[in-house]
Amino acid sequence: MTEKRSLICIACPLGCGMDIVMGNGMVKSVKGNGCKKGVCYAQTECTNPTRILTTTMRVEKGKYPLVPVKSEKGLPKHLLMECMEAVNNLKATAPVHIGDILVENILNSGINIAATNNVEKLAE
Ligand code: SF4
Repeated sequence: MTEKRSLICIACPLGCGMDIVMGNGMVKSVKGNGCKKGVCYAQTECTNPTRILTTTMRVEKGKYPLVPVKSEKGLPKHLLMECMEAVNNLKATAPVHIGDILVENILNSGINIAATNNVEKLAE
């Protein structure tokens, strides 16, 4: 059984509109892509969609109460809410630096959550 899908590639700002034909859970053809990245995007999006998680984590003893964080790679879409809850239940301790890994291998996904800003320690 074949299924047709339309997607907009988000791998670059051109945003090519692509027509995809699926069969047996696999991508059979991609049309409309401007380059090979579009095919990779279509395959991932149609078979194992992922998203970068961006959120904040609480910080103890910091100049600010929260630090922005993001996943180092795309997480499987079905894990996003669970990962968000996991991060919401954790606290980092200041000082936090850009790039610090605040959660290793979140939910056994093999993907780390890293700080995207600095939070200095609060002066005592
Ligand atoms: S298919 Fe290629 S050119 Fe088109 S949006 Fe994706 S990355 Fe950009």
